[in-house]
Amino acid sequence: MTESTKPLNVHAVKSSRSSHSAYDSLMRYARFLGYGDVHVKFDEKTGLHAIVAIHNLNRGPAIGGCRFISYNSMDKAMEDALRLGYMMSYKAAIVNLPHGGAKSVIIKPRVIKNREALLEKFGEFVEELGGRYITAVDSGTSPADMDIIAKRSRFVTCTTKSGGGSDPSPLTALGVRRGIEAAVKFQMDRETLDGIHVAIQGAGHVGYYLAKELTARGARITITDINTNALQKCIDEFGVDVCRPDEIYDVNANVFAPCALGATVNMDSIKRMKATIVAGSANNQLAHSKYAAVMKEKGILYAPDFLINSGGLIHVAVTYAEGTIQESLKKINDLYQMTYDVFERAASEDLDTHKVAVKIAQERLNIAR
Ligand code: NAD
Repeated sequence: MTESTKPLNVHAVKSSRSSHSAYDSLMRYARFLGYGDVHVKFDEKTGLHAIVAIHNLNRGPAIGGCRFISYNSMDKAMEDALRLGYMMSYKAAIVNLPHGGAKSVIIKPRVIKNREALLEKFGEFVEELGGRYITAVDSGTSPADMDIIAKRSRFVTCTTKSGGGSDPSPLTALGVRRGIEAAVKFQMDRETLDGIHVAIQGAGHVGYYLAKELTARGARITITDINTNALQKCIDEFGVDVCRPDEIYDVNANVFAPCALGATVNMDSIKRMKATIVAGSANNQLAHSKYAAVMKEKGILYAPDFLINSGGLIHVAVTYAEGTIQESLKKINDLYQMTYDVFERAASEDLDTHKVAVKIAQERLNIAR
């Protein structure tokens, strides 16, 4: 399969594997995704066991967070790094950042003898890559950790001095809100969210801030979660309606906003959906890329996930360029126009919106600086 026809659909890519050894499968997966620059580092003394998966350098140094979490196996860690680094390239390209995508993972040891020493060693690893990879906060790492890594490497952002805090969720929610506004304008010709009914799946970090953004603009919210405490917080603070997790697709809303898990947009959920817009933060919302075409047929407008959930990444890139939070906010607000442009191009080329967004990202990823 050529680069230009490769779908941005991790579920589909993973299912293409056959019964080879785990190593063979991972290497086939890496090649399929277009990798050529994957690094592994062990350090007995500190217990560091890390992977840096650099996906694409055509647009500039590859950027992506550092996960520091437990994995059952090295294979799982490698798969995570490959999958996430690939997604970062598409996110960076679709929003026109001067970066390729990458991801690093540090496999969390059962006992961490000296976290500082381990992170400093990781910093040396990043430095050895000579600037091809820029690291940042992700699950299990904090701005304070980035400060430690920065003692050993220049290629770090999201330190305590960077600004913007350690939680990217409010910025992600802002981008999703701008994506929803663009969709509401395109699909319903409405300038504001006043009176628009949004069904949010997931009241976690992004879902909470999205409910806040939307209710502040007069939208009506129905939200669900398996965590009743998270739901209660949204009821108390924003006066939202709630429903059971399995009822969210049936809500008679204008917008369905998946903000919990991947692969929730599938044949079953599409059949049940009353909403004519799907726009949320969850990564890999489509169980298969073909469901974007199914939505198009049904008259449902889909705001591509990797475009409208890129607020956190935009802020990381702005921070690395020593920009301010105001610059991040401006660029995230620009997601409105970027999303609208994708809708227009999809309509003029009679393609589904996911295909158009992937096409734009691939065109950019294939162009050398
Ligand atoms: P989170 O873990 O804080 O929230 C997810 C919520 O979904 C949790 O409250 C969980 O209880 C709930 N949930 C799980 N299964 C559910 C189900 N079946 N039905 C309803 N709710 C369910 O995660 P988050 O940071 O809010 O991220 C949400 C999604 O957005 C994820 O897919 C994440 O990858 C993606 N995303 C997040 C960010 C960010 O800045 N946090 C950025 C880009 C993409």
